[in-house]
Parts: sequence; structure tokens; C-alpha cells
Amino acid sequence: MEPDPSASTIATDPALVASGGTPSPSGGDPLPSADPPPSRSEARAPSGLPRAGGGAADAGRAGSPGDGPRGDAVPAPARGAPAEDGPRLRIGVSSCLLGNRVRYDGGHKHDPYVTQTLGAWVEYVPVCPEVEAGFGLPRPTLHLKGAPDAPRLVFTDSGEDVTERMLTWSARRVRELQALDLDGYILKNRSPSCGMERVKVFAAKGLQSGTARGTFASVLLEAMPLLPVEEEGRLQDDRLRENFVERIFALHRWKAFLRTAPGPAQLVAFHTRQKMTLLSHGRLAYEELGRLVASAGSAKTSRGDAVGVASVFDAYGRAYMAALRHPATRGRRADVLHHLAGHYKRVLPADDRAELSARIDEYRRGLVPLIVPMTLLTHHLRHHPDPWVAGQDFLDPYPAELMLRNHV
Ligand code: SF4
Repeated sequence: MEPDPSASTIATDPALVASGGTPSPSGGDPLPSADPPPSRSEARAPSGLPRAGGGAADAGRAGSPGDGPRGDAVPAPARGAPAEDGPRLRIGVSSCLLGNRVRYDGGHKHDPYVTQTLGAWVEYVPVCPEVEAGFGLPRPTLHLKGAPDAPRLVFTDSGEDVTERMLTWSARRVRELQALDLDGYILKNRSPSCGMERVKVFAAKGLQSGTARGTFASVLLEAMPLLPVEEEGRLQDDRLRENFVERIFALHRWKAFLRTAPGPAQLVAFHTRQKMTLLSHGRLAYEELGRLVASAGSAKTSRGDAVGVASVFDAYGRAYMAALRHPATRGRRADVLHHLAGHYKRVLPADDRAELSARIDEYRRGLVPLIVPMTLLTHHLRHHPDPWVAGQDFLDPYPAELMLRNHV
């Protein structure tokens, strides 16, 4: 379903709906960012996706999702950022991270990366569970109490147990969020409501009994298990940050692909474009997804049953997002880069091939970041166009302006 641009008004306060807004230096209400978003002139638009028309006629043409011969007409990829005038990614976020003053003491936890860097590419849907559930502002502090496998949410001083109230509100709010077609979610860490993991749980006498997930976060993650979700604290880690951003753009791309009403042949083309990306996350997932792609064609031709094909697409989407959850490693990415470099063994002089191989091995050993061999590879791609290589989403999984490949 096409996201409803007005849907973000679902926040209790329209002022809490932000899109790259920046809080005032004093911690006051968010202000519109003074800086324009970075240029997206090089970003590719989803309009390049294969169009509908797969259906039964295409089923029999579904081929192997392998590399494909050179010069094959691989459909133009849709990757990187949304189009300049297209919809932004829609990301749920703990409201205090945007600079909204919703914390128990009336403060905020503004995160500049969330608002300024990533904020240039996304539309945020801010949620403060404790304010929206009616706990007041300011309010007494809350914490998790009891057994870590079934913690209770209680007010620290009074001991009042508000678990059921939070759970009831969370179930309703998460249903609203599901209808918003989110591409990801960023949670505030260590919060008894929003924390994704390792939130302290205290025993009856005030001693820590273990850790758990925040009450709202539990409901959210259970209802949307494949949604890319991260905590702002973990986003400080270069590898986790890159993985999260890769996943939100991947989910956005997958949903744009589904909106084209693709058939089995288009799924083959999509899977082909993901080959290098998936292999950088693990070979088993790539092979499992390949089997699903093959089954899409047989489901249509043997049963004449669009429901069978739809279930394959559903399974593919789930497995695709699950595969990307495992962060890519230097070793697997180096293997992928050597695979791509192999496409140039007949067109590049020996010294250029040796240089490319050396940069890839330096990347494997941790001596240079991913951007180094990627820059050399794309340089050769410009001079020696190869449709199969150019069609790989691995080359351009998110906006270059985010500079993630300078740090992994
Ligand atoms: S961590 Fe969650 S509950 Fe706490 S202030 Fe931020 S958004 Fe609200």
C-alpha cells in the first residue's frame, strides 16, 4: 500500500512529527533544519524497477538467478535513495531522540545522527510511549521490576504497576504503526519502555535481577519481527549503523518492487540484482532465496494459482530481510569484490587487475575501508560497462552521502 503522506499526523502532537528537524541549542522545541538535504543527483529512483506484467505469461520464462551472460538486459535497478521528489523512507523513532522534550524530567535526548544525517533521507514517526500512554509530563521515573523473563513496568517511588496500561496502549499503537508501512525503527536505549535490549530489571529489594527489553519495544518487535530496528546507542557502532541503514533501504526497495505487481520473472531479476549483497551476508541465505525464486515459477505453472506465487513472494521478503540482519563481514565482502573483479579479467591490463586485487586484499585485512576498493571497481565499471555488474545493488545500496563505506 502506498504510504499515506498524512499518516504521520498520528502522533499525539503534530509538532512531534519531524523530518530531519533539529532541536534548539537550549533543548527546546525542534526547529526546521537550516541545512538543506544533501544532493541526491546521483541517487537512483525506484522508477527504474520492473513494471507489472509478470503473471502467468512470464512464469515459464523465469530463468536461473545466477550471474547471467554479459550483455543480458538486466532491468534497471532501483537502489540508493528515494527519488528527489519521491517518498522518503518512513522510520518510527523514540520521540526524545528527535529533541522533543518528552522525557520524565521534561528534557530530551537529541541524537544529531538521527536528525541531521539520516534525517535528510527519512520521514520520522515519533512515538513517546510514556507520554502517549498518559503517564504525564513531567512524570516520576519508571523502571522494570521482577523476573527478567516477565518484567513489570512500575513507578520507581510509588511502586505503582503500570504494565497492563502500557501493554494495552502499545498493542493499539503498534497496530497504527503497522498501517503506516514503516521501513525501520530507532529506539532509545536503556529505557524501561523503549529499550531494545539489556534494560536493567530490578528485584523487589532494588537489586538488579537481570536485563530485559522495554515494555513497548517488546510489543513492537513481536508484532513486526522483520522490521529493521536498532537502538541509537548501537548506531554509534560503524558496522551496526551500516547494517541498519542497508536494511532500511533494502526493505524500502523490496516494498517498491512489490508495488509493481511483479511476477516470477521479475522476482528472478530482483534476486539477480541482490546476488552480491546477499553473498556478502552469507551464502546459505542466498541459496535458500534462490530455491524460493525457482519455486515461484513452478507454483504458477503447475497450479495456475496466484496464491501460491504470493506465498512465495511473502516467504522471499521474510527470508531476504532475515538474511540482511546478519552484518556483512570483511571476508565475505572481499570475496564478493573478487567475484566482481573477475568480470574484468579480459578487459583490464594485468597491472590494473593486480592493483584492484591488492586493494581488495587490503580491505580484507582491515588496512583500508570498503570505499577504497569500491571506488576503484566503479572507476573500471565506468570505462568498461558491464550490465550485470552495474545491476548489482551491492554497488549502491544507500545514498553515498551517508558515507557509511568510509567506516566499514
Ligand atoms: S525513551 Fe521512550 S518513553 Fe522515554 S522519553 Fe524517550 S520516547 Fe519517551
